[in-house]
Amino acid sequence: MTARDAMRWAAEAACRDEDPELFFTDEGAEDLGWQDRALCAQTDPEVFFPEPGHRTSEAKKVCARCEVRAECAEYALGNPDLTQSGVWGGLDERDRAAIRRQQRSLEEAA
Ligand code: SF4
Repeated sequence: MTARDAMRWAAEAACRDEDPELFFTDEGAEDLGWQDRALCAQTDPEVFFPEPGHRTSEAKKVCARCEVRAECAEYALGNPDLTQSGVWGGLDERDRAAIRRQQRSLEEAA
C-alpha cells in the first residue's frame, strides 16, 4: 500500500464516523484523532502525492492553512515507513529527510 492509498483509505474509512474507542485500546494506541480535522481530506489527494520532480507548493499552501499541521508533521517524521512519499504537515520528502538528518546529527552530538 502506498502512502497515497493509505491517505485515500483514511479519508473514506467507515470508522471515521464512529467512536475511535471502538478501534483503539489505550495500550500502545496512537491518537490519530487529528486526521478527522485534516484539511487535505477535503481536497484532491493527487495534489499531495505529485509525480517525482513535480511541484509540491500547492499541497504546502493547503497545509499552511491546516489546523493539524503540527500533528501531521510529527506523525510523518515518526512514521517514515508509512510516509515515504507525499506532503505531510507541509513537508515534502526532501524536507523530512533534511529534518531527520538534523535530528540524527543533534543526537550524535549529545
Ligand atoms: S497538514 Fe497537510 S497533509 Fe497534514 S492533514 Fe493538514 S492538509 Fe493534510
